Amino acid sequence: MAFELPPLPYAQDALAPHISAETLEYHYGKHHKTYVDNLNKAVAGTDNENASLESIIMSAEGPLFNNAAQVWNHTFFWNCLTPNGGGQPTGAILDRINADFGSYDAFRAQLTEAGLTQFGSGWAWLVEDGGKLAIMKTPNADLPMKHGVKALLTIDVWEHAYYIDYRNARAKFIDVVLDSLVNWDFVAENLAA
Ligand code: MN
Repeated sequence: MAFELPPLPYAQDALAPHISAETLEYHYGKHHKTYVDNLNKAVAGTDNENASLESIIMSAEGPLFNNAAQVWNHTFFWNCLTPNGGGQPTGAILDRINADFGSYDAFRAQLTEAGLTQFGSGWAWLVEDGGKLAIMKTPNADLPMKHGVKALLTIDVWEHAYYIDYRNARAKFIDVVLDSLVNWDFVAENLAA
């Protein structure tokens, strides 16, 4: 069975003005879709044709890994965003952030730093590793799952994520995601899972 591009969890213009409909038209409608299409081409007629996305990610390297991981990363990223999200969370996730980073501001600063210092394309993550929350950054398609670490939240810092709306200003894009778009309910679900 072929992999499918999952529907966005909101309308294409729902994240505007922070992320424009035009960005989602390209980032979801073209970039994410291309990863799905390339993954389907790569697995057609192979032992991976009926494999789960996760098992391909864990077993594959090279182009097959890159396309499978980018399908997973983007689906995860869309779910990390929501209109009217962002800011400091509440409840169990805030308690864990305070326990493991000292404060929300310290967490925010570390995640921002990871996104800014990821040279070239990649991802900044809040993860749970060995029972503790931590910050991680990965290049290109790489992701925490491949390292046995649980992803809780991600920010896509590939240029295609922000170039239409913010040009070269990656820092502005990271601020906007953290202050206005993070879906903390999704992060809490990932933590509880
Ligand atoms: Mn992307």
